[in-house]
Amino acid sequence: MSSAVKITRIVVTHYEHEIANLSMEAQFGFDMVYEEGARLSSGGSIMTIETDAGVSGQVPGGNLQPRVVQYLLGRNALEREAIWHDLKRTHRGAGGTPPGAVDVALWDIAGKLHGVPIYALLGGWRKKLPCYASTYHGDENGGLTRPEDYGEFALRCKEEFGYPAFKIHGWIDVPIEREVAAVLAIRAAVGDDMDIMLDPAGAYNTFDDVLRVGRACDEARYFWYEDAFRGGGFSSFAHTKLRQFIKTPLLLGEHVRGLEQKADTIHSGAADYIRAGDGEDGGITGVMKIAVLAEAHGLDVELHGGGLSHRHCMASIRNTNYYELGLVHPNIQNTKAPIYADRRWLDELDSVDENGCVDVPEGPGLGVEFDWDYINAHKTGETVYE
Ligand SMILES: [Mg+2]
Repeated sequence: MSSAVKITRIVVTHYEHEIANLSMEAQFGFDMVYEEGARLSSGGSIMTIETDAGVSGQVPGGNLQPRVVQYLLGRNALEREAIWHDLKRTHRGAGGTPPGAVDVALWDIAGKLHGVPIYALLGGWRKKLPCYASTYHGDENGGLTRPEDYGEFALRCKEEFGYPAFKIHGWIDVPIEREVAAVLAIRAAVGDDMDIMLDPAGAYNTFDDVLRVGRACDEARYFWYEDAFRGGGFSSFAHTKLRQFIKTPLLLGEHVRGLEQKADTIHSGAADYIRAGDGEDGGITGVMKIAVLAEAHGLDVELHGGGLSHRHCMASIRNTNYYELGLVHPNIQNTKAPIYADRRWLDELDSVDENGCVDVPEGPGLGVEFDWDYINAHKTGETVYE
């Protein structure tokens, strides 16, 4: 095998997908919630990076800026680290991290060239990934509407599907007593042998709200409390202050961009668990750097959202606990475009095994074939760079 594998062409295929019983939340219109009979139009794209070695990297996602395409064409696809740092520098003003899909595609190419799954290149630590069922936000439409609805759904996730853990995204802008009641109702419903997490996703208005819910998390022995402050989890000061009042571990960093900023967050003492994600932190290379950063500080890294690349990363990280399987809801069956023929890879509620775990693909690269019959039947366009 040559040590130089030149990038020759990049194709981004766009497709559309509709999700039944889902709509945008009415008051603000920023969050997806359950609504019976509604249909939410969504879509996605697949990026294919072709090389002169006859191997292509193929990954979900990939809206590329022209200057990134110009830079990539003709470059050696095996020089992931050099490409990562070059693209990090060019993105220092906006977002601050290299485009994740590009990096994942390069790992896919490397895996295919070596004939091994990506996790085998990264190291390999585990094959089974324990999951938490991660819910949609609460709604006013008879789905996740009452505190007991969350409790009943958590119990179903535990008993019917075997999930060892459950994470609630609560309501947006409702009286805080309802959120407190949901936190307590879930623990009452599932008993002690399920880990429970809470992610308000920046929905609370006051420090008093943050504190009241945090004290409920203490009472109900929550595994972590994530991004409670209005707008999202940015302030190290705010979280360091919060942890003087409550005991529940804090998860932080989903919206903190950049390796250096994650380090600053850790050094401030604000986080017990640190977030990383391939889409927002620069692909697999970026996630693994944050994992090592966390490891060196005795912290666990928790990956944001699912996806095949996260399965390979989590399979190779010691200091992590759960795979985020979501978003899920008791009344919404198919939340993902079926871009893989095998439902196991789609992160649906029933994609887990009897122990509530998902598998790591064993094929070369990302290790799973795309369902091009489905993608082509729903294709809305294609962008070709060469
Ligand atoms: Mg979150």
